[in-house]
Amino acid sequence: ATPTSIMVGTGRAAEMGVLFRKGDALQALQGVEVIAFDKTGTLTRGHPELTNLIPAGDWTRATLLPLIGAVEDQSEHPIARAIAETARTETGALPTATGFRAQAGFGVRATVNGHEIMIGADRMMTRQKIDIAPLTDQAREFANAGKTPLYAAIDGEIAALIAVSDPLKPTTRQTIATLHDMGLKTAMITGDNTATARAIAAEAGIDHVEAEVLPRGKVKALENLRANGARLAFVGDGINDAPALAAADIGIAIGTGTDVAIESADVVLMSGDLRGVVNALDISRRTMRNIR
Ligand code: ADP
Ligand code: MG
Repeated sequence: ATPTSIMVGTGRAAEMGVLFRKGDALQALQGVEVIAFDKTGTLTRGHPELTNLIPAGDWTRATLLPLIGAVEDQSEHPIARAIAETARTETGALPTATGFRAQAGFGVRATVNGHEIMIGADRMMTRQKIDIAPLTDQAREFANAGKTPLYAAIDGEIAALIAVSDPLKPTTRQTIATLHDMGLKTAMITGDNTATARAIAAEAGIDHVEAEVLPRGKVKALENLRANGARLAFVGDGINDAPALAAADIGIAIGTGTDVAIESADVVLMSGDLRGVVNALDISRRTMRNIR
């Protein structure tokens, strides 16, 4: 393609809300064979809702919500906002949490009203030797329905099973189908548990899933997808996604995402609408073939 046609392509893309931040990205995108997506906030809306709270032991919804809400109020994770919001709506002002700590990919902990609270994935509970066996069947059912199951432990004992649901964006399914029609393979990379990830991927129509990936493992997961030398684009929105956006042949950031993600990307979609990925590819292909 000539410098002029690249300028024209870049301009046309910008009109459609697709910003090519680097000149060679427009040329490189047409050679991509696999597109990998982050799940939360990229394929899904990124605003999960608390759908289920199943108390264990002597705990009740009313006694649990202030404690777990206070802990999650300190966390920036989308899951945390869902839980804190429900707690505040149902119980009013939240108590104060002290000694808050987040363990990336596992969960969070803090002290509230003299109680040691821990909220997170099954692997966090297993690591702390909390017995979750009575709740795992129910958790699996939630996961198979595409919900994310979490556990809360209080003073070393299991206190609740929680489920949050984060639906796909309205255009996700259609975008994935179009990408397949264009001859691309698709994949999803997520820290969420395997059963939930598989259910969401099936709903979206995505070919391949890498689940339970710790934040620092996203680049390694990309390398696995690239094992046969395929050229690969990664689409993401979060702080966690920045290294993968930089490591992919083409990093595509969602413009509604975090600044760090945007700065690490080659291409930025001005809206959260994934159809921007199809538009970006289309313009890249047309430009390289010198088609108007
Ligand atoms: P992703 O970006 O795919 O959501 P993360 O690494 O951020 O992956 O999170 C992975 C998992 O860690 C979550 O699915 C959840 O089980 C657990 N987790 C992370 N943060 C929290 C939190 N604030 N409260 C409860 N669980 C959490
Ligand atoms: Mg995300």
